[in-house]
Amino acid sequence: MADFLYIHIPFCINKCLYCDFTSVRYYEPYAMTYVDALCRELDIKKNSTNALKSIYIGGGTPSLLPDKCFKKIFRCLNDNFNLSSSTEITVEANPGTINEPDINTLLSLGVNRLSMGIQSFNDYELKTLGRIHTSEDSLGSIELIKKAGINNFSLDLIYAIPGQTENSWHNSISEAVELSPSHISAYELTPEKKTPLYGLIESNKIKMPDEEIILEMYTHVIDYLASYSYEHYEISNFALPGQRCIHNLNYWDMGNYIGAGAGAHSFVNGTRSENTKDIDNYIEKLNHGEIPETESTSLTLNDCQKEFVFLGLRRIEGINIMKSENLGLNIPDVCGELLNEGYLDIDKGCLRLTRKGLVISNTVIVELFEKLGLD
Ligand code: SF4
Repeated sequence: MADFLYIHIPFCINKCLYCDFTSVRYYEPYAMTYVDALCRELDIKKNSTNALKSIYIGGGTPSLLPDKCFKKIFRCLNDNFNLSSSTEITVEANPGTINEPDINTLLSLGVNRLSMGIQSFNDYELKTLGRIHTSEDSLGSIELIKKAGINNFSLDLIYAIPGQTENSWHNSISEAVELSPSHISAYELTPEKKTPLYGLIESNKIKMPDEEIILEMYTHVIDYLASYSYEHYEISNFALPGQRCIHNLNYWDMGNYIGAGAGAHSFVNGTRSENTKDIDNYIEKLNHGEIPETESTSLTLNDCQKEFVFLGLRRIEGINIMKSENLGLNIPDVCGELLNEGYLDIDKGCLRLTRKGLVISNTVIVELFEKLGLD
């Protein structure tokens, strides 16, 4: 059983140049057929959850869905799942794809958190990423959100964009803070193979910022947001006190969750399963009453240990050493060198990355895997 539900809406106006998520071009009749199938899946999964602590509707661009689709999804959720006023209900939205009536509909349905894909306040960088919006669109959308009385909103930003300078990143961060979001996610761009952006970089048409500039961008965001009372609680995530994202905290805690929608993952009692990413196939299977899963894997002890270390170290509070012992890991015995070199420290029974370790977190985590004998 799980207390957390993720719903994937795989539609966007255009594919961004760096995107490797499951998403296709939005077309309303297709989206409506998809939502019918999604509701069938939710109906099949209605007995796999307890009272829900969170629902996260991500994508794609969920905010593209018309009101009637959201109403249908929430009717299905209210009929089949146990929601309460304390359930965190997040919807991802992109600038330029929401208007005042849409926001009011979401509020009336119980949505209490919005996550906005701003990415940058620099129009040149937005173009480089292939985003459809401008910084003016972002400001307009956030004004609407605030006017509707939504204070619990998160802004997603990206650094290490080709052509981005330290100055333009600093400007994006300070513009974001001026809008008083309750939460900010700052992700480093890592161009994935098979994306057009990767091809442009490989063919030297555009160039990533130098490594030391990327490091400066990361350390700047940590310091700048701390000076405005944002708590750095995960490698890429910052929140005002009491505003951490409950849904994502569950992922980093290796908690159970149910996923619905094309390409969505579920994780229950050590078994991970994945729905088909093929949207036609997803719809067809559900039309025949079949579960649209393509894969289901039970994690081995080695998998569990690795995920525990990897996800635990993403959180700034780190890994609870007693819990790690229950999983058969002897962390303090093997990480002496990383502690002495100042990449890790132990505080209140938890092993965590230091500032020096945070900026090279992947390298430190891989080294710790080796020392723990995890493959
Ligand atoms: S809006 Fe998000 S999901 Fe859609 S194409 Fe762009 S990056 Fe991908």
